[in-house]
Amino acid sequence: MTTEKKELLSLSVNELEELMLELGEAKYRAAQIFPLLHRGMSPDEMTNLSRALKEKLATHARWHLPTVERKLISALDGTVKYLFGLSDGNCVESVVMRYEHGNTICISSQVGCRMGCRFCASTIGGKVRDLSPAELLGQVIAAQKDTAERISNIVLMGIGEPLDNYDNVIKFLRLVNDPKGLNIGYRHISLSTCGLVDKIHRLREEDLPITLSVSLHAPDDETRSAIMPINKKYGVAELLDACRVYYAATGRRISFEYTLIAGKNDSPANAKKLARVLNDSLRNNGGVRNATKMPIHINLIPVNEVAETGFVHSGKEAVKRFAAILESCGIRATVRRTLGADINASCGQLRRESQSDKSEN
Ligand code: SAH
Repeated sequence: MTTEKKELLSLSVNELEELMLELGEAKYRAAQIFPLLHRGMSPDEMTNLSRALKEKLATHARWHLPTVERKLISALDGTVKYLFGLSDGNCVESVVMRYEHGNTICISSQVGCRMGCRFCASTIGGKVRDLSPAELLGQVIAAQKDTAERISNIVLMGIGEPLDNYDNVIKFLRLVNDPKGLNIGYRHISLSTCGLVDKIHRLREEDLPITLSVSLHAPDDETRSAIMPINKKYGVAELLDACRVYYAATGRRISFEYTLIAGKNDSPANAKKLARVLNDSLRNNGGVRNATKMPIHINLIPVNEVAETGFVHSGKEAVKRFAAILESCGIRATVRRTLGADINASCGQLRRESQSDKSEN
């Protein structure tokens, strides 16, 4: 037996079967335990397991579900924001949003982030560590248990850069999709990235029909590098080319996020340039099947003001004008509806508050 204790919620059914064999148990136990674990039960709570097996699991494996450290509920729209505690005392945030088509959870992928986007609260203290598959899945399970409602959609848009925690995120996607577990369809999952081009290519090869969301936020290298350091490694042209190849191979539409920051990236000239660069690189680029039909969707997000960044959001008129220019160039643009405005539902800030509480004590 290996000495390192395995995290039960990180294991696939096959890996759980192997563990059962290693523990001298029948393989079929795995099929009994897996669905219960994914409903949020601890091994100790499982009435169908012998005391002996529970003891073996406690000795040779680990189980921890994120604990609710804080919970804020929006009086405006029922959005619930969680500060979840992990087994080592670190915290991450998740947000449950209620839509007509079901409940969506926004989960974190890392404790902190090392991407350094200038407008973002999650990256201020850098990256502490990656989340394990169990901790990614645990956010969904714990939120579903706490709300007592089914969660049908997942967005990886919380704290962290999911493609910077690649292997654990892929393992999580397969776990959460397992019909014996939460059974959430890939088409109900979106992954948002700041643009790690090498990983976008790898993701394409995984052949998982999830939706890719790309945080673009600027139409050219100069503007983008000034707010997103990752752009110095992978520029706009290279990023959009990875998107073009991704769409050509998977047929899955990509959506782009564009955070509007007053005076940085929100002028009519920025909008025109954005439309041109998207049309040129995604639609008019020779040799791609159905290229001219590629749907392009931009989500415009008025920047959420974070005290430390000093960035101010664009006024309503500037947002409308920006959207209208994109639409006139054949690009669908929607302005993101703000949910949970009264609980500051976007990510990173609750964790930072809890950190400064701790350091003050
Ligand atoms: N690292 C991933 C996912 C996490 S951030 C990514 O970069 O896509 C989720 C989205 O929120 C990204 O589009 C990010 O750029 C955006 N975002 C971060 N801070 C923001 C802020 N202060 N205001 C508006 N959007 C912000």
